[in-house]
Amino acid sequence: MSGTTIDRRDALKLLVAAAAAIAARPAVRAAESHASDAASPAAGAGEKRPLGKTGITVPTIGVGAMITREAEIIRYAVDRGATYVDTADCYMGGENERIVGRALKGVRNKVVLASKVHIAPVDQMIRSVENSLKSLDTDVIDIMQLHGIGSEGEVTDGNAREALRKLMDQGKIRVPGVTTHSGQETVLRAVMKHGFYKTVAVAYNFRSDEGLKAALRKALTGGTGLSAAIRDAGAAGIGVIAMKTQAGGYPVEGGKLSPHQAALAWVLENPGVATTIPSMVSFAQVDENLSASGKRLGWGGKKALELYSRAIGDRHCGLCGQCAGFCPSGVDVQGVLRSLTYYEGYGQEDLARQSYRMLGSERGASSCATCGSCAVACRLGLNVRSLAGRAHVLLA
Ligand code: SF4
Ligand code: SF4
Repeated sequence: MSGTTIDRRDALKLLVAAAAAIAARPAVRAAESHASDAASPAAGAGEKRPLGKTGITVPTIGVGAMITREAEIIRYAVDRGATYVDTADCYMGGENERIVGRALKGVRNKVVLASKVHIAPVDQMIRSVENSLKSLDTDVIDIMQLHGIGSEGEVTDGNAREALRKLMDQGKIRVPGVTTHSGQETVLRAVMKHGFYKTVAVAYNFRSDEGLKAALRKALTGGTGLSAAIRDAGAAGIGVIAMKTQAGGYPVEGGKLSPHQAALAWVLENPGVATTIPSMVSFAQVDENLSASGKRLGWGGKKALELYSRAIGDRHCGLCGQCAGFCPSGVDVQGVLRSLTYYEGYGQEDLARQSYRMLGSERGASSCATCGSCAVACRLGLNVRSLAGRAHVLLA
C-alpha cells in the first residue's frame, strides 16, 4: 500500500515537472500560427465508436491534453473533430485543467470531457472534483476516472465508489471510470467482474504484447495478453480509452502512413478500443494524428511500424511491469527506463532527470555498472543492463 502511495506522489511530482519542462522548450511551437496551419487542414477525426455501454459516442482519435500548454492547439483539434479531451487535476499542477477550460469555451457541449481524481477519503475526493469543475469552467465532467490504479482492491474501494456515486447524484459527473498503467490486465478484468466503473484508460501500443509480430498476431487473431483483455473488456461493454499509443514519441521517418499514424491505426485495429488520446503539442502534430482517423493499418502501416520498431526496438521499454522484482539489487527497471524514454524519446531532459532522481539510490541503476550478469529478462529482449546503465550515466 505504501508503494502505491509513493507511486502517486511521484506521479504528481513528475507531472508538475512535465509542465515546467514543456514550458521551457524552445519556442518552436510559439512560431506556429493557427492561420498558417489552417492552410493545410487535417482530414479531421471522422471515425467514431461507442464508448462501451455509456451511451456516449466518441471519435477514435481524441486529445490527451497532459503536456499541451497552448489552449489554441486543443481547440484546433476539437474543431477538427477530436471531441474527446482528457486531462487531470494534477497535470501541470492544476494548470492543464484551466488550459482545457479555456480551450473549450463556447464548445463545451460538443466535447466529451474526461478528468481524474485520486482515491482518498470521500470528502477529499468530492472537493477535488469540485475544484476540477471550477478549473474546467464547467458544470459537469463527463468521465471522472480514478487516477492510476493498479489492483483489484482499488477497483472495489468503498470510498471511491461512495464519492463518485454522490457526485453522480449531484449531477457533477456523468460516468465513473479508471485509469491504469500497471497491473492493467488485472484492472481490466476486475472492472468487468465488479461492475460500477464504465470506462478504463490503459497504456496500449504496438509494443504492448510480446514484440511486434506476436502483438500483431494477437490483435488480429485473439489470444492472451493485454490485447485480449482489451478486446474482452470492449465486448463486455466497457469503454476502453487507449493512452501512451505512440510508444515513446520518438521522432522517426515513415512512408505512406507516418509511424505515429500507423501506431494509432494499430491500436484501433483492436475492436475493444473505443478511442485514443495521443499527446499533441503542435498544430502539425494534430494534423498528423487526425489524418490517421479511419485509416487501416494495411501493408504500408505494418511497414511503418516495422521501421519504427527497428528504430526504437533496442531502447523503448513497453512499461509492462513484467520484470518488476527480478533485480536482486532492487533496481526499478521500469522506472529507470521510463526516465530514459523521457530523455531520448520526448527530449524532456529536466523531466527525465527529475523522474530518475525520484527513484532514489535504492531503486536507481547505480548497481548495474558493477553487476556480474543481469537477472532481468525483458519480454521485448531489451538489454536491461546496458540501458539502465546508460540511464544512470545520463541522468544521475
Ligand atoms: S544489471 Fe542492473 S538491473 Fe540487471 S540484475 Fe544487475 S543491477 Fe539489476
Ligand atoms: S524492461 Fe521489458 S519487461 Fe520490463 S517493463 Fe520494460 S518492456 Fe516490460
